[in-house]
Amino acid sequence: MEIVSTVATMQQRVKEAKGKGQQIAFVPTMGYLHDGHLSLLKEGRKRGDLLVLSIFVNPTQFGRGEDFEDYPRDLQRDSELAEKIGVDIIFAPLINEMYPRGYATYVDVEGITEVLCGATRPGHFRGVTTVVNKLFNIVQPHVALFGNKDFQQLTVIHRMVLDLNMPVEVVGMPIFREDDGLAMSSRNVYLSGSQRQQALVLSQSLEVARRMASVGDLDSHEIIETLKEKISTQSEARIDYIKICHQLTLEEQRKVDADSVLLLAVFIGKTRLIDNGFLLY
Ligand code: AMP
Repeated sequence: MEIVSTVATMQQRVKEAKGKGQQIAFVPTMGYLHDGHLSLLKEGRKRGDLLVLSIFVNPTQFGRGEDFEDYPRDLQRDSELAEKIGVDIIFAPLINEMYPRGYATYVDVEGITEVLCGATRPGHFRGVTTVVNKLFNIVQPHVALFGNKDFQQLTVIHRMVLDLNMPVEVVGMPIFREDDGLAMSSRNVYLSGSQRQQALVLSQSLEVARRMASVGDLDSHEIIETLKEKISTQSEARIDYIKICHQLTLEEQRKVDADSVLLLAVFIGKTRLIDNGFLLY
């Protein structure tokens, strides 16, 4: 396994691989790997001859006052985990390599980036689509793997790839959870013991909503009110949003159907956690 830190070397490796007719599979991350990331890498290993993992805490997707500085980083530990999975190249550029002096170009997907996380985190998806676009240009993957954990992000990337005719297959992978249901996230390390317990309210809310839908309680407002009440019993929880949306348009739905996804973002203390899932299937 090789760790590459410059765009020029990465592009050289891509050229060599393509010269040999190799398929390139790509998993973009911000590092501090957990089993969710590893599940993407394992799938990538099956789908590509050359498996590239990028680790880059992308400053343009963090807002002012967000956790860019504090975001956990451990390249040593990440490389050991990646090597075990069979990653061929870790692309881990410094900020100046990705955004050199004079950098001025951004990619903006309209509409679907303005709701849900986009409403609370203005500019976040502009940072995501810009960096993913750059990474796709650098790594030129045949296939790129993303997690359903960031459901809106995946929807936005699908839209960008379609709209900009990008020659890459985007694959969405299931949410990887801890045994007690908490969706894995690099940010879970911020949680204290009692906050970790309270964070279960996200996955439990999903279960409550599914149970309601399964017995025919399909009114979105009623489901959301039930969840608000449930979440409010947790002393450190503060709801950012709870919405039931159409899986493709992300438009809010009054009534649950087979296309409905429940999306929630909840602060536990200072840590903002997200979760989502289909309600009927
Ligand atoms: P991040 O490092 O948080 O930017 O995530 C990198 C990729 O891993 C994104 O495509 C995420 O959606 C995905 N990911 C993060 N957490 C999980 C999880 N618990 N299960 C599956 N995929 C995940």
